[in-house]
Amino acid sequence: MTHLTLDAVHKYYDDFHAVRGVDLAIREGEFAVLVGPSGCGKSTLLRMIAGLEAVDDGEVSIAGRVVNALRPRDRNVAMVFQNYALYPYLSVFENIAFGLRARKVPDAETGRRVREAAETLGITPLLDRLPRQLSGGQRQRVAIGRAIVRDAGVFLFDEPLSNLDAQLRDEMRVEIKRLHQEIGKTTVYVTHDQIEAMTLADRIVLLRDGVIEQEGTPLELFERPATRFVAGFLGSPRMNFVPATLVEDGDTVAARLSADVALRFPADRAAGFRAHLGRELVFGVRPEHLTRPRTGEQGRPGQEALTVTVDLVQPTGTRTYVQFSLAGTEVTAELAAHDVEQPGTRIDLLADMARAILIDPETDRVL
Ligand code: ATP
Repeated sequence: MTHLTLDAVHKYYDDFHAVRGVDLAIREGEFAVLVGPSGCGKSTLLRMIAGLEAVDDGEVSIAGRVVNALRPRDRNVAMVFQNYALYPYLSVFENIAFGLRARKVPDAETGRRVREAAETLGITPLLDRLPRQLSGGQRQRVAIGRAIVRDAGVFLFDEPLSNLDAQLRDEMRVEIKRLHQEIGKTTVYVTHDQIEAMTLADRIVLLRDGVIEQEGTPLELFERPATRFVAGFLGSPRMNFVPATLVEDGDTVAARLSADVALRFPADRAAGFRAHLGRELVFGVRPEHLTRPRTGEQGRPGQEALTVTVDLVQPTGTRTYVQFSLAGTEVTAELAAHDVEQPGTRIDLLADMARAILIDPETDRVL
């Protein structure tokens, strides 16, 4: 069942058209992540759902009811902000209880719900403390607790983890995912972090300049990006893009990157590309799809060999990123941790051509 619907939603800040016709249908219990670069309009969209920002055109509906004219508190949504927004002079208990007290929920019921939320979030021992006596992660848990006790129909998160250090961010990400699995509320979560988007979302909505560039499950967007922007946004290190000419090569087609490098696509992909023979295109390959052949290995079908000179080596512990120039473009390969080479070494690589893409530079669409 569709729980939250945006229908041709627009937002203007004076002359600036910040949200430009967004349609979205989020199912009951779904975890949707709005992601995109700074300024793409994701916070504005979330604030329009919350009722903190007026909708200039179009409709926002929650549970089948148009809420454009409703105040935030009448929309049955709970929002968690980036800056926690806790009351500094109230205890953790009272911070969590605040919304219930404002609604005149009886004391016994308030106590029960606050303790239940605190238990879920593992902050029961902190209930008597003041916000300044908490760490950043604990404060964020209190802010989430305040949203949980409201028992709202929709949870809205606006970059809730961006003030936390990397390790805590990883921990809280796991907790938010677990929380969603436990209580299963419809959730809209805003972030600019593609890892958060990939790991949390049932569905990613990737925004660019106030419109939806593409939406789908994390793997759909990752494996079948519709545009160069999507291909480059998801994945770290990001996808490599190299200018190429599409040429005929035996029974298939190849991306010619330079006079001496032409990478053949598997024959079953050639049909889709033939209409573009002779054109200048952009060849895209993810760093993890450039691998080292094992000793004596020629490469499996669909893999193409190339030899490059290493410029830069970045070990991360689990993987090693190796940079090199390919047909004049700086390219990264993500290799196994122990495939460490010295700069200046010539190495053989295999490119996975079953997963490489071609992009039309005129439309930026993936072919
Ligand atoms: P960020 O990740 O940087 O928060 P965002 O995708 O959430 O970015 P929004 O905050 O939604 O972006 O802003 C979208 C655009 O609207 C931006 O270009 C921003 O400068 C502009 N904007 C936002 N709020 C206002 C405002 N109150 N007045 C004028 N312009 C605004």
